[in-house]
Amino acid sequence: MKTQVKSTCCYCGVGCGVLIDTEDGRIAGVRGDPEHPANFGRLCTKGASLSHSLSPDYRLLHPELRSARGAPRLRVGWAEALDHAAERFAAIIRAHGPDSVAFYVSGQLLTEDYYVFNKLAKGLIGTNNIDTNSRLCMSSAVAGYKQTLGADAPPCSYEDIGLADCLLIAGANPAVAHPIVFRRIEDAKAANPELKIIVVDPRRSESAALADLHLALASGSDVALYNGLLHVMLAEGLVDRAWIAAHTEGFAALEAIVADYPPERVAALCELARDDIVQAARWFGQARAPLSLYCQGLNQSVQGTHNNAALIHLHLATGRIGKPGAGPFSLTGQPNAMGGREVGGLANLLSAHRDLANPAHRAEVARLWGVPDVPATPGKAAVELFAAIKRGEIKAVWIACTNPAQSLPDQGEVRAALAAAEFVVLQEAYANTDTADYADLMLPATTWGEKEGTVTNSERCITRVRAAVAKPGEARHDWEIAGDFARRLGARLGHPQAATLFPYAGPEAVFDEHRESTRGRDLDITGLSYALLETAGPQQWPLPAGAASGQARLYEDGVFPTASGRARFVEVEHRGPAEMPDAARPISLLSGRLRDQWHGMSRTGTVARLFNLDPEPLLSMHPGDLDERGLRDGDLVRVAADAGLTRGRAWLPMHWGSRFMNSPGVNALTLAAVDPYSQQPELKHAAVAVEKAELPWQLVVIRRGEAPPDSPFAALPLLERARALLPEFDYATVGLYGRDAPLVVFRAALAEPPAPARLAEIDALFGLADDAAAIVYADHRRHVSKRAVAPDGRLIGVRLAGETLAQSWLKDAMADDTLDAALIRWAVAPIGSPPLRLPEKSRVVCKCADVSERQIRAELAATPGLALEGLQDRLKCGTFCGACVPELKQMIAGAAPLAA
Ligand code: SF4
Repeated sequence: MKTQVKSTCCYCGVGCGVLIDTEDGRIAGVRGDPEHPANFGRLCTKGASLSHSLSPDYRLLHPELRSARGAPRLRVGWAEALDHAAERFAAIIRAHGPDSVAFYVSGQLLTEDYYVFNKLAKGLIGTNNIDTNSRLCMSSAVAGYKQTLGADAPPCSYEDIGLADCLLIAGANPAVAHPIVFRRIEDAKAANPELKIIVVDPRRSESAALADLHLALASGSDVALYNGLLHVMLAEGLVDRAWIAAHTEGFAALEAIVADYPPERVAALCELARDDIVQAARWFGQARAPLSLYCQGLNQSVQGTHNNAALIHLHLATGRIGKPGAGPFSLTGQPNAMGGREVGGLANLLSAHRDLANPAHRAEVARLWGVPDVPATPGKAAVELFAAIKRGEIKAVWIACTNPAQSLPDQGEVRAALAAAEFVVLQEAYANTDTADYADLMLPATTWGEKEGTVTNSERCITRVRAAVAKPGEARHDWEIAGDFARRLGARLGHPQAATLFPYAGPEAVFDEHRESTRGRDLDITGLSYALLETAGPQQWPLPAGAASGQARLYEDGVFPTASGRARFVEVEHRGPAEMPDAARPISLLSGRLRDQWHGMSRTGTVARLFNLDPEPLLSMHPGDLDERGLRDGDLVRVAADAGLTRGRAWLPMHWGSRFMNSPGVNALTLAAVDPYSQQPELKHAAVAVEKAELPWQLVVIRRGEAPPDSPFAALPLLERARALLPEFDYATVGLYGRDAPLVVFRAALAEPPAPARLAEIDALFGLADDAAAIVYADHRRHVSKRAVAPDGRLIGVRLAGETLAQSWLKDAMADDTLDAALIRWAVAPIGSPPLRLPEKSRVVCKCADVSERQIRAELAATPGLALEGLQDRLKCGTFCGACVPELKQMIAGAAPLAA
């Protein structure tokens, strides 16, 4: 039986609508929902690959409990698992008080999940120790909005991108991190070539390629830049003093501060050209509708809150806020960081944007929940929460849908904390995240495609998330697990209403309770219901009872949700990053995202095609810095020769952790330094030293997935086996590659070659021990040994040791399956150079979906008469930016393909 279910992409905060096609109870495909206002049918590579990311290999399907540290976890039933957890939590709370336990949840939970966890911690247990990985991405945006505008409410909508005449993209790279937003930016530029685009980013990012002006500022100099822009705008009469007088307060104090930020000084602080600063100020100040789009580059800083405030000041000083095309628009990182903020699911927030410090607000929430009170003392934010676990103050932690053993800064301390905790519960869909190594109890949760509820995207738009398939194994929904645990814990703690506080029959009941909590608040959604979302589609908040629809833009009347009704200018000064580069660590390391990976890769890391663009975590540096260190492309620290970086800066993707390399990744380098207002850590920057790693002996294994041959998951069991090898090398990565017939690629290096017997064991692990089907080359004097295994004439795997140059062409040739018997010998040739008549790599026609000409021709040959829509359905080609659609049409018409 076939069905189609409307839902929402589970990756980023753009919140694209998807249509999930199912066949006989399994997800068969995903496409963009043409009716969803966030994407109108478009999806990026991650969203379009969702149906390829549903491998059952890594799913946690049953509760698992271990009796003691070091003991294996054993399968248990749900009742035993939750009773055990309730006993442990109750005993710790009775002995040490409510603040001796904590919850660490996720911006990828649905609003309903978040709501129940928040009520469990603050309402039932009486601790504010509930924080979330949204602390790592959006808490500075929250604090920035609250300090200036009075509420955590992005005032803009996606449609403003098309209405703006100046776009300031600051600390964001939407081309890779919010691709469907970037498609709108491209459309806006195409429709209005006069649109001025300014990109502020220390690196010449993919988004900067579209910019009219790229300001490659030094890390940690954001406040200086925005104060400098305001200085120029003041000097040139580009501020709206009448609007400032009518709608704001605190401008005089800020004006005195920015007087000390002339463009010459700002140019020095930011390492920018003075004239570029003046130009940016003029474009912004003269614009009818300037729109700022910003994200982690501003937030993940020890000055994150003031970075946000300094940028928002530009809108307040010009009165360009609450108007079509104008305003400060924080792009949300995670799919439901907004929903978490709405229910108050952070250590310092209360439901529906209420303040923890306000006794009246606490009383309102207690009344809504039917509990005597909620605690007044803020809980511990993420970094401090794990520090308190390490100190023994917090003894039990419940982690849901997130992977702190990769994502938090200063991984050494975080892992030590998890190891020191008395009791760690991990509620997860995946069994194999880094955090799983520390869990005493693992609880299987449902994930995308199986869950029901709502999420809120960057533009305050609430969308339904719907289940398309049944829960696998014994997995349960996150809200369901939290509610069941709450009832068991409440009974043990003698809570009078334990049985009735969490009565939900389904997510709609949770949503309705959350909706009631918003009554009269700035995010009032008392006019919203599951039924309305069903009939009218996604809706922006606020949507109070009686309103016909949600509100696209906030503050159109110039009235702000502060005590005075006026927006506030904040006194912000340049401070610089937590760590300045020095002689010992002269490089400013920036961390960032790649187009095709998401967070710690627990989902995207199962999809081979998502490795094709960026197979490994490459460090990018300026060529001059490479030369200075004797580095060149192909060294162990591989470096892109032209990465758009100025001298003294380097860039590393954030996605790779211990599951894909023999290191916790970039967060082994980042500091636990946090912003004083938002408690958000400075994940974007660290001062580091970079030098050549002297690891001359290298190993590469490229192996086809084993079975079933036509499954996109064929390589995953092998990938898992290869992971066991990572710790034994000085450097090692493992990943996937290819398209329909995925490959596993293992790469490693050592200072000294291992014993030959170890190589034989590695061959056996990869299923390359069949001597009868092997072609080998060995030069024992040079410690070079190569082995290609081709049963029945088809190359299934190659192991290169000591000399690995052939990897550069072998991966593509094996992915395309183009090596015939005569060519296979070249795989183990002494020098490693490609054969003279190597078949050409199939040309990629759709770069967004990584679809090759060969794949398209094969699909057209297999289905005579296939139309464009059918081809797009099957391969997703031409469903993203649309640039290849003319070529696809021509191929369908049977004409020769256009030139590349
Ligand atoms: Fe999913 Fe974000 Fe891509 Fe949209 S832009 S498809 S929400 S990852």
